[in-house]
This record gives sequence, C-alpha cells and structure tokens, in this order.
Amino acid sequence: MPPRLPEIPEAEPSASARRDPKLPPTSSHRNAFMKRQVPGIVLLAAILTVLPILPQPLQIPEYWVTLLNYIGLYALVALGLVLLTGIGGMTSFGQAAFVGIGAYATAYLSTQYGISPWLGLIAGVLLTALLALCLGAVTMRLSGHFLPLGTIAWGLSLYFLFGNMDWLGKYDGINGIPVLNLLGWHLESGRSIYYLIWAFVLLAVASVQNLLASRPGRAIRALKGGGLMAEAFGVDTAWLRVVIFIYAAVLAAVSGFLYAHLQRSVNPTPFGLNHGIEYLFMAVVGGVSQVWGALLGAALLTLLQDWLQNLLPKLLGENGNFEIIVYGILLVLLLQYARDGVWSYLARWWPTRPPAAVAPAPALPQRRRPQTGETVLQVERVRKTFGGLVAVNDVSFTVQAGEIIGLIGPNGAGKSTTFNLVSGVLKAGGGTVSLCGERIEHLNARAIARRGMGRTFQHVRLLPGMSVLENVALGAHLRGRAGVWRSVLKLNRQEEAQLMAEAARQLERVGLGAHLHEEAGSLALGQQRILEIARALCADPLLLLLDEPAAGLRYLEKQQLAALLKQLKAEGMSVLLVEHDMDFVMNLTDRLVVMEFGTKIAEGLPDAVRQDPAVLEAYLGGVDDELVVDAGEPA
Ligand code: ADP
Ligand code: MG
Repeated sequence: MPPRLPEIPEAEPSASARRDPKLPPTSSHRNAFMKRQVPGIVLLAAILTVLPILPQPLQIPEYWVTLLNYIGLYALVALGLVLLTGIGGMTSFGQAAFVGIGAYATAYLSTQYGISPWLGLIAGVLLTALLALCLGAVTMRLSGHFLPLGTIAWGLSLYFLFGNMDWLGKYDGINGIPVLNLLGWHLESGRSIYYLIWAFVLLAVASVQNLLASRPGRAIRALKGGGLMAEAFGVDTAWLRVVIFIYAAVLAAVSGFLYAHLQRSVNPTPFGLNHGIEYLFMAVVGGVSQVWGALLGAALLTLLQDWLQNLLPKLLGENGNFEIIVYGILLVLLLQYARDGVWSYLARWWPTRPPAAVAPAPALPQRRRPQTGETVLQVERVRKTFGGLVAVNDVSFTVQAGEIIGLIGPNGAGKSTTFNLVSGVLKAGGGTVSLCGERIEHLNARAIARRGMGRTFQHVRLLPGMSVLENVALGAHLRGRAGVWRSVLKLNRQEEAQLMAEAARQLERVGLGAHLHEEAGSLALGQQRILEIARALCADPLLLLLDEPAAGLRYLEKQQLAALLKQLKAEGMSVLLVEHDMDFVMNLTDRLVVMEFGTKIAEGLPDAVRQDPAVLEAYLGGVDDELVVDAGEPA
C-alpha cells in the first residue's frame, strides 16, 4: 500500500465542501458559468482523494499517478492563463519562465543553504511577484501583438539566464533537491506529493472562482474590451492588468516549486519558450475563458502527448518525435472546430442550478444631491482640435440640477467629442469643465466617474456573456472597496450583497427587473441601452451623460427610452443627452444646444430651436450627414 496522507486529502475537500452550504442566498448573482463550479470542485476533490487509495484491484497504477501529478502542475499554470489571457485578454507565451523562477528559487536555497523548501516557496513566490510587477508595469501597457512579443522576449531571456548562470548550474541545472516534508510527512513518492499538488490546484481553482465572482472580478472581466468602459466606472485598468499578471505568475511559480520537489532536480529545458507555448495551448484547448478549461486542457494535452509518444513509434516503426506533428494537426483542427475549447462542449451537459432571488441588503450610502436649480455641469469655451480639424470650437453650455439638456447636431458636428471632453476620455485643448462647482477638465475618466458622472456609450459596451445583474453591478464599482485579497478569501460577502442588491434595485427602476439573470448579450438593443443606463445609475451619479441612446432603436423602444428618461428627471436626475435624432429630443428635453462643424449654432427651448433658420439649414440643407463618417468613441 502506498503511504497515506490523511491531513491533505481530508482538509482539501472539506475546505471546499464547507463553502457550499454557507453560500448566502445572494450567490444568485453568479452567472450560469459560476454556478456550475461550486459542486464541480467538491466532486473533483472527492474523486481525486479516493483515486490513489482505493482497494487493490481498483487502485490506479503508479504511472497514472505520475500523469495526474503532471496534469496538476500544468493545470496551475494554465489556470493563471485563463485569468490573464482568457478573461483579462492578455496573451502570454512566457509563463514557463515563472515556473522556472519558482523551481530554481527553492532548488537553489534548499541545496545551497539547506533552507526549508517552504521558505523556498515563499522566496520563489515573492521573487516572482516582484519580477512580474516590474515586467508587468512595462509590458502590460503594450497593446496588440506587442504584448505577446514582449512575453516571448522575457520568456527567452529568463531561459538563457537560467542556462548561463554558474551558480544555477548552467544547463545542467541543480540536482539533489530535498524531499518535501509536510508536518512530518516525507512526500517522497509520487502518490504522496500527489495530494499536495492537487490541494494547490483545487485551492487555486477556488481562489480564481471567488475572485471572478467579486467586485474586482467583474472589473477584470471588463478589461478585455480595451478598458474604456471599465475606466468610466472607476476601474484602474492599468493596475488591474498588472495585478492579474502577478496572480498568473505566482500560480506558475507555485507549479515550479512543486515540480522541483517532485523531480528533485531542475534544469532550464522545461522553462523554455516551447513550454510557454504549450501552456498557452493547454488553456486554449480546454477553454481559455473557463476555469475548468485549464484543468481539462492540461489533462487532454498531457494524455494526448503521452498516448502519441507510445503509439506512433509502434505505427511508424521508428522513433523521431513524430507526436509533435500529429499534436500540431490536432490542435489546428481543434482550434478550427472548437474555438471556445473543449470545456464549452462539456459545460452544456453540466447541470445548472436556477438562480436564486437577490437577497435584500442594506442600501449603499448615497451622495448629497444638488438642489433643483443648482448648476451641475458648466462647460466654458471648451476646445478640441484633431490636427487641422477643429472638432469642438469654444463651446459653452450648462446643465442645471433636474434638467434634461439635449446636445444635438448632424453627424460629425462634434457631439461625441464634446461628450468625451466632459467625461474625461479626451483632454480639452482649452476651456473649463466644472461638475457641481469643481473643475474637472484636467481629470481622467476614472477621477471624473468618482466625482459623480455616469455615462453610457454610443456603441453599447457590455459584457455579453455575463448576466444582466453582474453587468449592472459593475457600475457600482466605486461604491465598493473589496480588493483582490478580500475577494479571494471571500471576506467580501456583505459588500457583495449590497452591490448586487443595488444593481437589482437599479434594474427594477429602469424596468428590467424581469431580466436579472439573463445573459446581457441576449437582450434586444433597446434593452441593452437601458441596461447601460441602469449601470450608470448604479454609480449614484449627479449627472447622467447619454451618447445617442436612441440610435438604432425601433419606434416602441424609443418611446420606452423617452418614458424612462422622463421618469429619471421626475426623480431629480440631471441628464446631458447627446442625440442626432431631433424628433426624439423634442418632447423630452428642457433645453437644446445645437452644434454644427464643432461650433454651437443655437441654444434654447426645443420649440424655439426647431424654428431657428441656422438649425434648419444644418439639419436639412448643406451636408448630407449620412456621408459624414462618425468617429464616435475612440476604441
Ligand atoms: P458627432 O458625434 O457629432 O457625430 P464627432 O465628435 O464624433 O461628431 O466628430 C467631430 C469631428 O471630429 C468629425 O469630423 C470627426 O471625423 C472628427 N474626429 C472625431 N474624433 C476624432 C479623432 N479621434 N481623430 C480625428 N478626428 C476625429
Ligand atoms: Mg457621435
């Protein structure tokens, strides 16, 4: 019989099992994707616990234990990639280098100085986090293909660093790494370290799940679209990118630590770029945006490689790494026909629990609201030029508390640019913008959001795979405080309940109360626009900025939207409505500001503006406004 390890296998599943019954009713906010996972982790923990300790005929052979150990090690790295690449949208080929740091740190410290491997783990994790912080601060700002290229560069350089350092044994590496000792247990055999590896994997899965279902998790999921939307709700996207980069790197370092003590020797080969690419493949094959995809991808690729290494020499009669070719072809096919990864197929068969109702929770604190008649927004001679084009030419207007002001004009008039100057997406070339008396023209979008400006987008920006409720909860980002640590450890429950209750309240307010748990992407365009308004309302704004909310809507949808805006006005909300459609604003707004070619050409009551010859000329004569390209928001 193999040595039994009562502590780890029993501690792990019960730790996960404990989470389930304790989940408050507010767990309803998790979308279908999250709901599947809670029983999944318990089930997996139970299976993994009994596999190696079944009575003799059923017991899995040593060889399978070894495979499972490697699957666990790879899964840890792939899990980091799910967070970084699949959910955060940043592709990394360099994760193997972080595995190397974790492995070399413990190898070096335990062989040279006889330091406990557990201190080596801490050292490796700290070193990795520090390096990831530095690398991330530089490379996470890169966009497009520069980021993957950057990850290749650091992957290569760390590999050659390991291989050229005398004190790291050059390409021979370090041998004689001690056996791990856990509370008196020597984890010498594959069967004993197996429990440690999988305990780490399941803890990592639970931590990523907790993170994703939280305030910072929603912000992380919003990173993929470029971050403009997340910044508008106060998310520090640059920092958050670095945070998930560190998170993924630390998971890789833990894998390296376990690897070093499983192998008892390290050399640079497994930490090279090839393996960095393999890790990425694992995540992609399994399903790069799914937590379980990481485990599945690690398992599939490990088993496939093992099977091909045995089968191909028999078929072809000679040895020659032919598996690499088959492996490549299979990958191409898989990516062609199952781009979302294999897990997305399996997930369809996985039972889902119906979402529970959102639990009532104490309301979040609210801002002091301006009195009716107070000036909420004052725009004074703002100016913006793009090269030689004056997109906004010394435009001034104000919004008083409780007013709906329409900023209208033909396409290309400079409405969206003005909107972006007010909301901090663009920096004004001149002039001032004040929100409730405070100058804001020098602030970025995040700081302006914090001061009470809520906005929607000309082209709807929501997270289609996330529930309506979670999309709207993102709007309340600045009203919560829980960061990554508190979320991973689930110390954020009360705040989460409050954020979710607030999101549900705002959805009720705008009339989407019946759609809380649907996927946001399944709503009609009109409902998506209204979802965006609810999301903006979640931030408890002093001023609501709407960019062409009626564009593309059907007649009935427009009427519903107008009714909603009137209702918000009646509730005391101040609104700046940028709109192309004159009819839509006519019966809705208190005053209109009309722009053409960047310049304000008229201002006043809707009926008076409609009669204004300059306005008639702008709308009916002159430019064929359908031909003017609408630049809209920067991507
Ligand atoms: P509107 O929203 O009223 O349709 P915009 O504010 O989008 O108009 O555009 C005003 C003018 O500024 C247009 O001529 C447009 O082509 C130009 N413009 C807008 N954004 C940019 C940009 N980022 N770079 C260069 N030109 C731009
Ligand atoms: Mg526009």
